[in-house]
Amino acid sequence: MVEAVVGANWGDEGKGKITDMLAENADIIVRFQGGANAGHTIVNKYGKFALHTLPSGVFYQHTTSVIGSGVALNIPILINEIKSITDRGVPMPKILVSDRAQIVMSYHILLDQYEEERLAGKSYGSTKSGIAPFYSDKYAKIGFQVSELWDDAVLEEKADKICTLKNVLFEHLYHKEPLKKEDLMEELHGYREMIAPYVCDVSAFLDQALREQKTILLEGQLGSLKDPDHGIYPMVTSSSTLAGFGAIGAGVPPYEIRKIVTVCKAYSSAVGAGEFVSEIFGDEADELRRRGGDGGEFGATTGRPRRMGWFDCVASRYGCRVQGTTDVAFTVLDVLGYLDEIPVCVAYEIDGEETRDFPTTARLGRAKPVWKTLPGWKCEIRGIRRYEDLPENCRAYIEFIEEQIGYPITMISNGPGREDIIYR
Ligand code: GDP
Repeated sequence: MVEAVVGANWGDEGKGKITDMLAENADIIVRFQGGANAGHTIVNKYGKFALHTLPSGVFYQHTTSVIGSGVALNIPILINEIKSITDRGVPMPKILVSDRAQIVMSYHILLDQYEEERLAGKSYGSTKSGIAPFYSDKYAKIGFQVSELWDDAVLEEKADKICTLKNVLFEHLYHKEPLKKEDLMEELHGYREMIAPYVCDVSAFLDQALREQKTILLEGQLGSLKDPDHGIYPMVTSSSTLAGFGAIGAGVPPYEIRKIVTVCKAYSSAVGAGEFVSEIFGDEADELRRRGGDGGEFGATTGRPRRMGWFDCVASRYGCRVQGTTDVAFTVLDVLGYLDEIPVCVAYEIDGEETRDFPTTARLGRAKPVWKTLPGWKCEIRGIRRYEDLPENCRAYIEFIEEQIGYPITMISNGPGREDIIYR
């Protein structure tokens, strides 16, 4: 059977921790979309790690970690990441990379940087990892697939085409050095050496695993609101963040995805530009940012301070719906223990009307939060393992949010560690 772990919001909901935890009872963990542009933070017996490309199951010896065809594969980052964990005492994980995955090239990263420079203040807040140029090229059918690395004739022909196309932009739009075919060939040959030990027909491997009754976990990156179709377009990422896309980006039958665990954080945070209705500012935001996550709310990849807000029921209900949620994992609840009162955004006011339906981007820009304030519980809840042992106001907060979003909260995370979890 296949289970997916995905985010309900803007990302950074704590998916890494939930995946690492669920991976204990899984056989295979698959990354199915995105690239090294976002990260998961995981705390376990080996230490604290920020993973960007590897699935969050790499810390177990019984699991196989898979990079599916839907991923934007940055080969040097993958190789460095493997080294960075094995250097710190983690046993060498079993890693497979889809022969159909496509490769993030150095010119994708340059294009991302040059475009952000050109847009200056009007940029999308890209992490400049080449993700948007990569996916544009994939769908324009000029990308390099891993399988092609062993066919020099194909590589030569494609490299020529890339130089012709991209150099128009490099020279005339960005006024930079043009690409050289020899450099591209050298880069591709380097990647061939680096990736060779891991390449595999991933969908055939997963098909066999399903026949053997293995459990496969699909690990999503970012969250519903960053999905190019259902999110806050254009301030979205370039690949689908939804569990449904897991079937494609991993290569498993859609009907095999039986459980969709949508991770929702007990307050909101976002990185980069884009509409964020329940955003808070000033001291209120600074305090939440400082206390948030595990050592503050700063991007796992970029170190950028995250934008902060209170829980948004409108966005989260929508985020859970578009994922096809079966279970909600409600995370980072321990952080809210310092508050006397906790505001929650229960509706949006748009052009004088109140709504609980998440609107398209233009209307979202005019939305104002409608707040309801719940009492805080004013104590530390880390270490609690049973739902009944949580303070009454804390249970009331969880139950209020569950009712608002309309999906069952079956797991509550009250600390960054694997064992900080309450099943309900
Ligand atoms: P992801 O991309 O969805 O995996 O999220 P990140 O890893 O970027 O951000 C989540 C942060 O919160 C990380 O620093 C985690 O270690 C931390 N975290 C996860 N769950 C909890 C929790 O229940 N309590 C606390 N305090 N921190 C948590």
